[in-house]
Amino acid sequence: MRSHAERGNDELAPLPVGRGVGVRAGFTTTLSIFPTIMHNKTLTELSAGLATGQYSSRELTAAFLARIQQHNPQLNAFITVTAETALAQAAAADQRRAQGQAGPLTGIPMAHKDIFCTQGVKTSCGSKMLDNFTAPYDATVVAKLNDAGMVMLGKLNMDEFAMGSSNESSHYGPVKNPWDLNAVPGGSSGGSAAAVAARLAPVATATDTGGSIRQPAAFCGVTGIKPTYGRVSRYGMIAYASSLDQGGVIAQSAEDCALLLNAMAGFDPRDSTCVDQPVPDYTAGLGDDIAGLRIGLPRQWFGEGLSNDVAQAVRAAVGQFEQLGATVVDIDLPHAPYCIPCYYVIAMSEASSNLARFDGARYGHRCENPKDLLDMYMRSRGEGFGAEVQRRILIGTYALSAGYYDAYYLKAQKIRRLIAQDFQQALQQCDVIMGPVAPSTAFDLGSHSGDPVQMYLEDIYTLPLNLAGLPGMSIPVGFGDNQRPVGLQMIAGYWQEGLLLKAAHRYQQNSDWHTKRAC
Ligand code: GLN
Repeated sequence: MRSHAERGNDELAPLPVGRGVGVRAGFTTTLSIFPTIMHNKTLTELSAGLATGQYSSRELTAAFLARIQQHNPQLNAFITVTAETALAQAAAADQRRAQGQAGPLTGIPMAHKDIFCTQGVKTSCGSKMLDNFTAPYDATVVAKLNDAGMVMLGKLNMDEFAMGSSNESSHYGPVKNPWDLNAVPGGSSGGSAAAVAARLAPVATATDTGGSIRQPAAFCGVTGIKPTYGRVSRYGMIAYASSLDQGGVIAQSAEDCALLLNAMAGFDPRDSTCVDQPVPDYTAGLGDDIAGLRIGLPRQWFGEGLSNDVAQAVRAAVGQFEQLGATVVDIDLPHAPYCIPCYYVIAMSEASSNLARFDGARYGHRCENPKDLLDMYMRSRGEGFGAEVQRRILIGTYALSAGYYDAYYLKAQKIRRLIAQDFQQALQQCDVIMGPVAPSTAFDLGSHSGDPVQMYLEDIYTLPLNLAGLPGMSIPVGFGDNQRPVGLQMIAGYWQEGLLLKAAHRYQQNSDWHTKRAC
């Protein structure tokens, strides 16, 4: 059998062409003429196919629903599949096209991380606490993609309240990595990364508080972008740590990320941290040359703790950027060793405050027969939140308490400033910082679950970016010794998403890692 690294686009999983596809009992549609490889196409290709009438949005949507039906039972990437509404949205998109009102994304299926509120659809945030919650409104990101005419296939699995690096803290069970069912897909956007890697959706939304777009993208061999803090509205995105959370994209390529980000980004008066700054057309500069691009490699990121196979793949990718005209300098991020404690104090403190709203009174889980108000709070929260969420609320509450605020929270905020300054200094010597996304390739399911600190250490290269508010990407650059994907992390200055996408696109035009398929 050929290794994953050798697999190309030629091995296509068969689709159930011509037979009824029922994702929910009682729903069937007959598919007679959809091309078997639709699920393999990029957004640009899908958009072209829809524009030339090669297939309709309804056919395309049915093809992806069939993929979900075929592979989701094994992968567990979706928490909710909205087959009927997807087909209705697709029919509306076809109509819009017939009236000459289609944009580049009209009629293209996608899926949302289950952290984004979707009107009339269950929005669980991976938690038992919100298992019974149907959102009464759309998040801004959801509304924007609806307006663009996209079709929502469903809601994607994730770590509970986005707390985790392996997707194992989900109330709905772990997601499996499509490259190796014994491996985690990464987290917290594990469902988003697995769904795109297995081509259950051409593209997905995701969020990144400390690495949750970049790390699962790396573990699943797909491309992810976490924009500058404030670039994408957080309205309707369930809060974990508000000063760090940012919505973004997981897709098959940098070009696809650019297309989706065009539709997602922009000012929103309903999010006071969303910045009022024009959104450039991220697809416009994609073809530009990268000759003269200065790449900075942080010395602190290539030492102890980084596995050899990841280091090798990352260095090989940097070598390829050099062949494309980039130059390389070594840089320093002197406060790098403090990023894990700094991040976890701040993230848990903000989480303890944000999650106070889940009290059993207004929405979400309420315990049976509470004997008084306190009993209702205690049992509703005790039953509704999983172990990792409870741990974080406890630690965060402790760090914010009057006696310890100065010693922990205030000190962490000071260190956060130093970490952000490190990046500003480094970015005077280079245009893009490159390095690993995670210390190793995807680890085995269950291997870290008894040891939270080991899990937190997984985030060592991704967290600093969020503390600084900078944009970052992960692109696939090879496979490790265990045939699991390796990602390259790319970081640029504030609002430089266009530069990241251009550099990533240039690399992808000259490599084929992003075209490898897991199944
Ligand atoms: N793994 C990190 C955490 O658990 C980051 C999660 C995220 O980015 N949502 O906090």
